[in-house]
Amino acid sequence: MRRHGDREIWRYGVSQSPCLSSMSMGKNMDYDVAIIGSGIGGSALAAILARHGQRVVVFEARSHPRFAIGESLILETSEMMRALAHFYDVPELAYFSTENFLPFAGTTHGIKRHFGFLHHQSGQLHDRRRTLQAVIPKEPHGHELHLYRQDTDYFMMSTAVAYGATVVQNSPVNDIEPLADQVVIRTASGRPVTANYVVDAGGFRSVLAQKFGVRDFDLQTHSRGMFTHMINVPCYHQTGDSQEAYGLPFRMSEGTLHHLFDGGWLWVIPFNNHAEATNPLCSVGLLLDPRQYPPRDDLTPEEEFFAFIAQFPSIAAQFANAHAVRDWTRAGRLQYTSNQVVGDRWALLGHAAGFIDPLFSKGLYASLTAVFILAHRLLQAKQTGDYSAAAFADLQTVTQNDVRAADRLVANSYRSFKDYRLWQVYAVMWLLGAYTELVKLNMMRAQAGADRQAYYDQLITLKLVGGGYPAFEAVAQQVDGIMAAVDTADETAVTTAVAEINQIFRSLDWIADPFIALLDGKTYLPKNKIRLSLLKPGAGFMGNGAYKAHFFGDLTMRDLLVYGAKEKVQFARPYLAWQHKKLYQERAKR
Ligand SMILES: Cc1cc2nc3c(=O)[nH]c(=O)nc-3n(C[C@H](O)[C@H](O)[C@H](O)COP(=O)(O)OP(=O)(O)OC[C@H]3O[C@@H](n4cnc5c(N)ncnc54)[C@H](O)[C@@H]3O)c2cc1C
Repeated sequence: MRRHGDREIWRYGVSQSPCLSSMSMGKNMDYDVAIIGSGIGGSALAAILARHGQRVVVFEARSHPRFAIGESLILETSEMMRALAHFYDVPELAYFSTENFLPFAGTTHGIKRHFGFLHHQSGQLHDRRRTLQAVIPKEPHGHELHLYRQDTDYFMMSTAVAYGATVVQNSPVNDIEPLADQVVIRTASGRPVTANYVVDAGGFRSVLAQKFGVRDFDLQTHSRGMFTHMINVPCYHQTGDSQEAYGLPFRMSEGTLHHLFDGGWLWVIPFNNHAEATNPLCSVGLLLDPRQYPPRDDLTPEEEFFAFIAQFPSIAAQFANAHAVRDWTRAGRLQYTSNQVVGDRWALLGHAAGFIDPLFSKGLYASLTAVFILAHRLLQAKQTGDYSAAAFADLQTVTQNDVRAADRLVANSYRSFKDYRLWQVYAVMWLLGAYTELVKLNMMRAQAGADRQAYYDQLITLKLVGGGYPAFEAVAQQVDGIMAAVDTADETAVTTAVAEINQIFRSLDWIADPFIALLDGKTYLPKNKIRLSLLKPGAGFMGNGAYKAHFFGDLTMRDLLVYGAKEKVQFARPYLAWQHKKLYQERAKR
């Protein structure tokens, strides 16, 4: 316990058992739950809780629509959106999970058909062999989106209001006081508000994280960033070699493009990359390791951006006529975590708890996973009255595991950018982790049916990548160990490390053939990921005892095919349009 002014603040480690101080004593609160921040995370949580009858208030410092970053989706994020919509019966939460929702989600969002990577060397035109186009499978749900966050967040916030949440905009919270029997939230104006529980979804400047001094910066990754929205950013193939010359399934503008180089990378996320698009903007961000490229306070962010990319002729050509349409944001080191994520009557959500780097776009996946866990626990707490740190301990474990996993992956990726041969093999580590995580998420939903507790029990075992598969963890440990130890400036050491990592991947009987093809020099993943080789009873995925047991459990091949076909129908445009119309008619009658 410690004192704050004349009040007592109780803090418990999450290992402690529920205590009376954090049990609801039946006192009359203004709200069940108060949420700080109406970004996609805070608003999604508010919508779920309000949908289930909880009294929810959300405080937002600014007012919608407002600029936000975090625009590139990954399959795991989209699947988590479907899971949230399904298990909490809030269909709107799936509206950004596939291109097939565009008629309802709006045409200001871009489409993402691949994750594209071009590795550059200073002073040289891009070498086409240094390419990876990680094509995103279209089946069964359709391709993914680039989120125009001012619109997605406004929509999510409005959805929360539609389900009954109170949202107070232009109201920065400046103090939160978790007490024994309630939480008191204070804004600059207005009377203090009380609630049973507070969720801080306010991002890096989280009021609670600052108040309790829980920030931890002891992380491997070091990057700083500058980003904005631009116009006149052409498709890479208009200024560089053609799609045909690269021999790629998709144009680079049809996905999220990452320009990689020693010491950093640059994202290109177009919103104007499909026939239905109505948004001319393209999101652009540059990430640099500050140990290699210290901050340039002598330059504006825009001057620094153009001065930096001038050394890479193929990147500079793509931005020759580009203009920012809003002020650049420049941020210092981006990495942080929190040594405490939950306390009695409070929790930090997603970005408020930790962040590593936008590389691989894991941020929203981690945030929405946290929404799932918190919503489940808060619905239970409403019944039991137990708002203790112990009751919410899973959130701390999962959040901290996610941040550490992202840190390891991103730090070693930055190391790999120093020598293309390292990136070529380490990219397979990233892909394997993402792919297995996605398979697990899909199968968890398939197996759980309507049983949210069963899904939750599996979800809390995941660690951002690898789908909780022990054999994956073992591989990751080996490969990351090699990556962390290799002297990237020593050619011979790199050659040895690359050979060792190659050997590790090639010895796995559960790795997909297209990943091995990347090790052999192929520059893209095939459009069709469903390979007959996966179904071979002897050596395929369904034949390996441990792999099958972990990911597919009792599901038979027939079950999987039926489930896949059902998902395809349920996420196809005609079915979604029918569902949408039905929902509209039901609501119009009320
Ligand atoms: C440079 C960068 C790029 C990123 N790119 C990606 C990406 O491509 N893909 C991806 O998945 N993730 C990405 N992320 C991560 C992603 O941005 C976050 O995961 C996501 O935005 C989290 O959403 P949120 O709702 O939790 O927080 P936010 O979207 O940050 O919303 C927080 C809200 O809280 C409000 N707020 C803050 N303080 C207060 C206060 N005291 N009182 C009231 N309101 C307050 C803010 O005004 C804001 O509206 C990126 C992050 C960064 C930093």
